[in-house]
Amino acid sequence: MMWRRVAAALVFVFALGWATPAQAAVRVLYYDASQAQEFVAVVNQGAQIWNSRVSNVRLEPVPAGRSPNIRVYADNGWPRTYTTSLGNGRWYMGRDAVNDGYYPPRIAAHEFGHILGLPDRRTGLCSDLMSGSSAPVSCTNANPSSTEAATVNRLFGTSVSVPAGYFTERAS
Ligand SMILES: [Zn+2]
Repeated sequence: MMWRRVAAALVFVFALGWATPAQAAVRVLYYDASQAQEFVAVVNQGAQIWNSRVSNVRLEPVPAGRSPNIRVYADNGWPRTYTTSLGNGRWYMGRDAVNDGYYPPRIAAHEFGHILGLPDRRTGLCSDLMSGSSAPVSCTNANPSSTEAATVNRLFGTSVSVPAGYFTERAS
């Protein structure tokens, strides 16, 4: 009886030991979409896509009175992202790409991808989120590939340092 209790206690301790680091590793990033104009819903959709695919970081709308990690804007240029460090920066939902027919949720998820530490990889593949405008205009995949999601989980799981960056989607 006593040994059974000791065994149960040990199982409990081991369970805590495994569960605690995983919970502590989840980082919440707050984004401010209040200046995204007609794209607020699309920005929220981009955040939800990432939240459904990664476990070490979450994108949440910024609560009142708190300063955001990420600011999202809309303008008439090309979509682009300026990062200051992993998880921090600002991005633009550029109407040039939307007007050319690129799928807005894919643009939003792609720009969040830069904030989450992913560079552009112009593979031309629609199955890659970070292929951006190198994939056909008709591409409506807004989900990161399993490799892209795993990379984001690894970056936030290890809190690696990512240098500031600038990424533009202007087709060259
Ligand atoms: Zn990009």
